[in-house]
Amino acid sequence: MHLDSFCDTAYTFAMRTSKLLIPTTREIPAEAEIPSHQLMIRAGFIRKVASGTYTYLPLGLRTLRKISQIVREEMDASGAQEIDMPFVQPMELWDQGTGRRADYGATLGWFTDRHGRENVLTPTAEEVVTSLVAAEINSYRQLPINLYQIKTKYRDEFRPRFGVLRSREFVMKDAYSFDATLEGLQKSYDAMHAAYCRIFERCGVPYVVVQAQAGEIGGEGSEEFMIPCDAGEDTIVHTADNTYAANIEKAETDAPQVEGEPLTGDPTGELEAVATPGCKSIEEVTAYFKKKLKTKLNAKNMLKTLVLRATWSDQGAGPDWVLAVVRGDHELNEHKVLPALRAAHPALDTVVMADEAEAAAAGFCIGYVSPGVPISCLTVIDPAAAVGGFWVAGGNQPDTHVKHFNWQRELVAHVSDTCTMVADIRNAAEGDTRNGEPLLFSRGIEVGHIFQLGTKYSEALDATFLDEHGQESHCIMGCYGIGINRIFAGAIEAAHDEDGCILPATIAPFTVEVIPLNSDKQEVREAADRIYNELTEAGVDVLLDDRDARPGVKFKDADLIGIPLRVVVGGRTLADGQVEPKRRTDAEATLVDVDQAVPQTLAIVKELLATSNY
Ligand code: ATP
Ligand code: MG
Repeated sequence: MHLDSFCDTAYTFAMRTSKLLIPTTREIPAEAEIPSHQLMIRAGFIRKVASGTYTYLPLGLRTLRKISQIVREEMDASGAQEIDMPFVQPMELWDQGTGRRADYGATLGWFTDRHGRENVLTPTAEEVVTSLVAAEINSYRQLPINLYQIKTKYRDEFRPRFGVLRSREFVMKDAYSFDATLEGLQKSYDAMHAAYCRIFERCGVPYVVVQAQAGEIGGEGSEEFMIPCDAGEDTIVHTADNTYAANIEKAETDAPQVEGEPLTGDPTGELEAVATPGCKSIEEVTAYFKKKLKTKLNAKNMLKTLVLRATWSDQGAGPDWVLAVVRGDHELNEHKVLPALRAAHPALDTVVMADEAEAAAAGFCIGYVSPGVPISCLTVIDPAAAVGGFWVAGGNQPDTHVKHFNWQRELVAHVSDTCTMVADIRNAAEGDTRNGEPLLFSRGIEVGHIFQLGTKYSEALDATFLDEHGQESHCIMGCYGIGINRIFAGAIEAAHDEDGCILPATIAPFTVEVIPLNSDKQEVREAADRIYNELTEAGVDVLLDDRDARPGVKFKDADLIGIPLRVVVGGRTLADGQVEPKRRTDAEATLVDVDQAVPQTLAIVKELLATSNY
C-alpha cells in the first residue's frame, strides 16, 4: 500500500467521534473548583492521574499541540532557534553551578540514580542552556543568539490546584537570549515581547502585560502576560486607564497616609490575654470574637505577625529570624521585606517566609505570634500597623491572643532601635494611589513571563565571549517562559458559557464538526460524509459525529467541547436540499443549500481563523 494513502486513511478514520476517545460527562466533577477545570474534564480533554498530574486525551492533546505550534511558529519567526534539552539534569549544575538548589527548595524535584548521582527534574533550564553557550560560543560575532525549547517541566508545587493551571508537570516554552551588550539584550527582550503579543493574539486569548517580580529566576526587570479572569491566582494592580499595571507582588504605591507618629500612641488599657482556642487566622479570630465573645472585632484592629528566616552574607552578623507585622486587613509583601531591612542591615543576604516546623522548633508559637516574643529577631512593622489603636495581637502562647497591645509598652521599651524598624512592607490595597491616581484591582492568570536576567547565570557558569577588542565579557541574558497548558485552561476560563467551552478556532481541537442526524438514512450519511471529506481535503480540521445517538446528545457534546462551527445534516432539511451551519456563538442556525455547504463553511472557517474571538 502506498504510504500516503495509508496515512490519509488512518487520519480520516480517526476523526470520527465513534472511533475517538472523547469521554464527555454531564456531571460537574466534585474536585474541580473553577470552570476551566470542570470543563476540561467534562469535555473529555484531560483525566487526573494524581495530584497535579494529568493525562491529555485525544482532543486535549490536539489543542495543546495547536498552541505549541503557534508558539513555535512565532518563536521561529522572531529568529529564535529550537533545541531540546534533557528533562533530567545533573544536580551539580544546580548546586555548585548556580546555587539554585537552595532557592527552589522543596519545589525542586530530584532523585538519586543507581550510581549515586543526584539529578534534577527540570523546572526550567537556565543552567543547561548557559552551560551549552559557555561551551559553544566564544566570540561577539556569534551573538546575539536565542535558544528555546517546548518541553515538559516538573515542579513539586506546594499546592497543585485548578487542574492544569497549577500542576506539577506542565509544558513550558522556555527561551534564553544571549547578547553582547545591554542594548542587545533590550532588543532581544523587545523581540520576545512582540512575539508574545502575537502568540496570545493568535491563540485568541485576551491578555494584559504587567510589571512583575522576578522571583526565583532572579535578575532585573520583568513583565508578565496575564489572561484577565476571576479565577486567576494573581492580582493585577492598575490605574483606571491601564497606563500602569503591575502584579501585586511588584506594584508600587504612593506612601500611604497614616495618622500619628509611629510606635508612640498611649495604651488603651492593660494588656489582657484572651483565650482564642484554635483561632490561628485573622478571620478565625474576628469570627470567634463575634460569635463567642459577642464583641465586634475588625481585622483593621488586629496585628498580623509573620515569621521569616534571614541569612547573612557574613554568617551570624544578625539574628536568624525576622518578624514582619502588618495590619490584620493587609497582606504582607514578602518581596518588600529584604530591601526594607537592608537599608539598616546591609549584610542581610536573604529573607524568606520561614518553614513553619522550623520556626516552631525555634520557639515561635505559629498562629499566635506577636512582636515582643523573647527570641532574638529583627522586627519590621508596616506604617499602618505602627500607629496607636486598639490592637489585638497574638499572645505568643497556644490558643491565646492579647487585647490592648501597645507598641511602646510591649516592644520599644524592651528592644534596641536597630532591631525594630517601620517600613512599607505590605501589598497595595483598596484606597492606595500611585502618582495620585487611585489603584484598582483585578485578577489574572499568568501565562507568560519575560525577564531581563543580566549576567547572573553567565557569571555563575562562566559563559563568556571575546568582544571586538579581544576583551572577555559575560553574556548578557534574558529568559522567556510561556505555559502551554495554562493558555489552554486560560482560554476556557476567558470564554465559556453554561453549555461548555467556547474555544477560539485557532486552538480548538477541531474547527468544524459535521453532525448527521437520522444517520439511519443513507442520503444523510452520504451528504455528511461528502461534506466531511471535502472539508478535510481542503485542510480543515473536521470531526464527524457518526455516532448512533440522539440529536440532543450530539449538540450538547459539540457545545461542551466548544467546536467553533458545526454543520448539521438533518433528514428533513436535507429533503429540502439544505444543511444548517451554526457558529458556537450564534443563537440560531442558518440554512444553506447543500451544494453550497462546503464553500460557505470554508468562508466561515477562514473568518474564524483570521479573527480571534476578542
Ligand atoms: P507562578 O508564579 O504562577 O508559580 P512562575 O513565576 O513560577 O509562575 P515561571 O517560572 O515564570 O512561572 O514559568 C513560566 C511559565 O510557566 C509561567 O508563566 C506559567 O505560564 C507556566 N507555569 C509555571 N508554573 C506552572 C505550573 N505549576 N503549572 C502550569 N504552568 C506553570
Ligand atoms: Mg511558580
